[in-house]
Amino acid sequence: MAQTEGSPPTDFIRERIDEDLKTNRYGGRVATRFPPEPNGYLHIGHAKSICLNFGIAAQYRGTCNLRMDDTDPSGESQEYVSSIIQDVRWLGFDWEDRLYYASDYYERLYQFAVQLIKEGKAYVCSLSADEIREQRGTLTEPGKESPYRNRSMEESLDLFARMRAGEFKDGAHVLRAKIDMASPNITLRDPVVYRIKRTPHYRTGNQWCIFPMYDFAHCLSDSIERITHSICTLEFENNRPLYDWFLDELKVEDHPQQIEFARLNLSYTLLSKRRLIELVGRGLVSGWDDPRMPTITGMRRRGYTPEAIRAFCERIGVAKNDSVVDMALLEHCVREDLNERAPRVMAVLRPLRVVIDNYLEGQVEEFDSPYHPQNPEMGSRKVSFSRTLYIEREDFMENPPKKFYRLAPGKEVRLRYGYFIKCMAYDKDPVTGEVVEVHCTYDPETRSGFAPDGRKVDATLHWVSADHSLPAEVRLYDRLFSVPNPLEERSDHTEYLNPNSLEILKSCRVEPSLAGSAPGSRFQFERIGYFCNDKDSSPGRLVFNRIATLRDSWAKVASPPKG
Ligand code: ATP
Ligand code: MG
Repeated sequence: MAQTEGSPPTDFIRERIDEDLKTNRYGGRVATRFPPEPNGYLHIGHAKSICLNFGIAAQYRGTCNLRMDDTDPSGESQEYVSSIIQDVRWLGFDWEDRLYYASDYYERLYQFAVQLIKEGKAYVCSLSADEIREQRGTLTEPGKESPYRNRSMEESLDLFARMRAGEFKDGAHVLRAKIDMASPNITLRDPVVYRIKRTPHYRTGNQWCIFPMYDFAHCLSDSIERITHSICTLEFENNRPLYDWFLDELKVEDHPQQIEFARLNLSYTLLSKRRLIELVGRGLVSGWDDPRMPTITGMRRRGYTPEAIRAFCERIGVAKNDSVVDMALLEHCVREDLNERAPRVMAVLRPLRVVIDNYLEGQVEEFDSPYHPQNPEMGSRKVSFSRTLYIEREDFMENPPKKFYRLAPGKEVRLRYGYFIKCMAYDKDPVTGEVVEVHCTYDPETRSGFAPDGRKVDATLHWVSADHSLPAEVRLYDRLFSVPNPLEERSDHTEYLNPNSLEILKSCRVEPSLAGSAPGSRFQFERIGYFCNDKDSSPGRLVFNRIATLRDSWAKVASPPKG
C-alpha cells in the first residue's frame, strides 16, 4: 500500500497481476471490469472500485469494461443506468465501446445452465424458498439433501424448459447446482442458480420470467468478456469457490481470477444503496443529488471535483481488512484540490452595514484584485469600494473579549485589497438591541494595504460594496449524520440524521463578478470556505453550496508534527 512519490501505487492486487504477467497466465493481457447493478445511484464506495479497476487497466495498458450487472428485474431501471454512465464518465474514466449488459447474456447463461443439467451437475428443485433455507444447515451442521436432488436429468431438463416458458408460478421451482450439502462452505450447499420471477425487466421486458442468480451470472459474464482479474469486495470471499466451480465444471475457455479487497466505509455517512434509497424515498434528503449525499451525483452538485475524489481513492489504497475512513480525509482531498484551482472572491454571508463617514457620498473606486494570490495566470477582477459596505456580522463585536482581533469600537482593521478603517460608532436596533450599522472612518493613505507611518492592524476583513454587491442564497452543508457510525446501536439509523446538516442563508451578498458564474463553477469565498454555484441559480437569483470550510482538521492528523 505504501506509495512513494512518482511511482505507481502498488498493493496486493497489483502484485498478483504482476505475478500473473510473469507466469504469462493470461497471455500478457490485463482486463478488468466495473460491474454495478443499476438499482441505485453510485456512491463514493463505488468510486473506490471504479478507480481501482480503471486505474489498473490504465497502468497495465489493459482494458476495463463497464458492465451493468442487471440480472434482478426488481429495482433496476434505465434511470440508474444513465446515472451510472454519467457518473463514471464524470470521474474521468473511459470504457470506449465496451459498455455491456449482463441481460444481453441471458440466452448464453441459459444454455450454460442446460449444459450443467445435462452433465448431472444441476437439478430442478421443487422445495419452497423457506424449505431450502431450513435444509441448508448451519456453520456447524451439514445441510440436508433435497428430495429432488436425484431427479432424472431428463425431468430436470423438461422442467427447466417449462420454467422458462412460463408454465409455473414464482417460487414453484428453482434450478440448483448439485455440489455438496455437507460442504463446510455454505455457499457450496447446492446453491440456487435460477429462479422464476414474473417481474418485467427494464431491458428484456417480459421475454424472460426466469433469472440467473448473481453467483452464476457474474462469473460467466466475466468469462464471456474475457476478464482476467475480477476484483470485488471482501463479502464475496466465500463465494470464490463457487465462482471457480461454475467455470471449471462448464469448462469455459476463459477463467478469470477473482480477487477481493476491503470495501470503503466512510464515517458520518452510509455507503449502501438500499439505505440511500430509503433516505431518498422517505424524503429525508432532497434527492439522489442532495449535496449531503455520499453519491457521486450529490458530491458533484456539492462541488467536489473528480480530481479530488480520485486523489482520495488513491490515498486510501486497497487493503485486505475492513476499516472506516475518516470523512475528514475526503474533505482534506477536496480542499487540497480546490486550494489550487478555485478563484478567490469576496462574499458576505451574514451582512452588517458599515458606513465610511469620511468617504464621499457617490464616490466609487475600483481595486484590481487577483483571483489567486499564488497563481497570477488566473487573472484579476475589479472590486468596487464605496461609502457603504457590508462586512461579516461576526467580524464586529460591541464588547470584544481580549483576544478579539477584528472590528470593535475604537479598533482599526484592514479591508482586503482596500483601506484601513477604524470604528468610531455604531447604531443599535432600539427594540432588539442588535447592532445594525457600524460607522467608520478610513485612512486614505492606506490604499496600498499598508500605513506609511508603519502602524499595524491585527486583522484583514473581507467585505463587499452595498450598492455593487448582489444578493445570494447560500446553503451551508454539514455531515449528514451526527455520529461516526450511523449503523451502530439503534436499529433505525435515520434517528442519527444530523438536524443541522443544512442551513440556508437567504440574505447573503456576493461581489458582482459572480453575476455570470455558471452552475457548477467553484470559488473560494475569502476567509469562509469553498463554494459552488448550484443548479438552482437562475438569472437574478444566485445560489451557492458550501463545498467545504477552509479549516482543515485532518491536516494535523495526517501529518504528525515533525521533530
Ligand atoms: P451497495 O452495498 O451500496 O448496494 P453493491 O455492492 O450492492 O453496493 P454493486 O452495484 O453490486 O453495489 O457494486 C458494483 C461494484 O462496486 C462491485 O464490484 C462492488 O464490490 C463495488 N462496491 C460497492 N460498494 C463498495 C464500497 N463501499 N467500497 C468499494 N467497492 C464497492
Ligand atoms: Mg450488489
